[in-house]
Amino acid sequence: MQPTGNLHIGNYLGALKNWVRIQNDYECIFCIVDLHAITQYQEPTELRAKIEEIAALYLAAGIDPKTCSIMVQSAVPAHAELAWMLTCVTPVGWLERMTQYKMKAAKQESVGDGLLQYPVLMAADILLYQAGIVPVGEDQAQHLELTRDIAQRFNSLYGETFVVPGTSLPAVGARIMGLDDPEQKMSKSATGAGHAVALLDPPAKIRKTIMRATTDSNPAVDFAAAGPGVRNLLAIYQAFSGDTDDAMKRQFTDMRYGDLKKQVAEMVVSHLEPFQDRYRRIVSEPGYLAGVLREGAERVAPIANDTVRLTKDRMGLYT
Ligand code: AMP
Repeated sequence: MQPTGNLHIGNYLGALKNWVRIQNDYECIFCIVDLHAITQYQEPTELRAKIEEIAALYLAAGIDPKTCSIMVQSAVPAHAELAWMLTCVTPVGWLERMTQYKMKAAKQESVGDGLLQYPVLMAADILLYQAGIVPVGEDQAQHLELTRDIAQRFNSLYGETFVVPGTSLPAVGARIMGLDDPEQKMSKSATGAGHAVALLDPPAKIRKTIMRATTDSNPAVDFAAAGPGVRNLLAIYQAFSGDTDDAMKRQFTDMRYGDLKKQVAEMVVSHLEPFQDRYRRIVSEPGYLAGVLREGAERVAPIANDTVRLTKDRMGLYT
């Protein structure tokens, strides 16, 4: 995740919750991608503080730093090194087609080169560790597809070097929409007060944001005819509760929207309150986060360095 903005329930349900679920089934590396963050200007003091905040949120969600590695991208220089080598095998046209690039670029007068290169750096993050599976939200599926294309192109030019990774999307919650506008993805960079529920929002604010969510002109839940706002509220509830589709239908069919929102708000608060308690405990321990991040970087650096050596060797660079 990028250490920018405020992490919200979309980030949690689309990615973080899934990470916690799979952490004992795989050898996991969870990266805080600060080099991606600087593709747009970040105030340096804030960026540094955000990096630790994200690390604390990973831990509060239940990532176990004894079994998984949590690390900061810029602490392992191999990320930037591999990104350059991959840049050199990536056609510009592939990058210009990326939806996220087109959306971000459209909002700016002058587009930094880093924004275009963003998915190549992401490919480096993944290929560096020969990752088999990348658990992300749906908005990142296109970047994962590009990562596979880059890996395959490199492998065919220089011989088998990279594992071609798979994508893992959660069954429910892969794309949480804005509560104020269910046609738009819930996003860290959106500024509207009623847009997102941030993971660190106080319960009163969470309730208020959800109670104000946009629905549609029907009076009550009809699963066959529900508009995007109601579908989004149901997805949020189901992703938190883990209920089956049948259980959801039994519970919510014909429920008035006001009651639906109350139930969604209580479900979200009941998960985020203990999460926020854990977060406060973690940040109050002096030196703990810095230690977790240092250990994470030390554990993964040898894997990353081996891949860089192999890549340089394949390309005929000086090793
Ligand atoms: P980012 O906000 O780009 O740092 O994304 C961090 C992770 O959260 C990625 O795996 C995204 O796919 C996921 N994510 C971001 N926004 C959403 C959303 N609205 N719904 C589901 N997953 C999301």
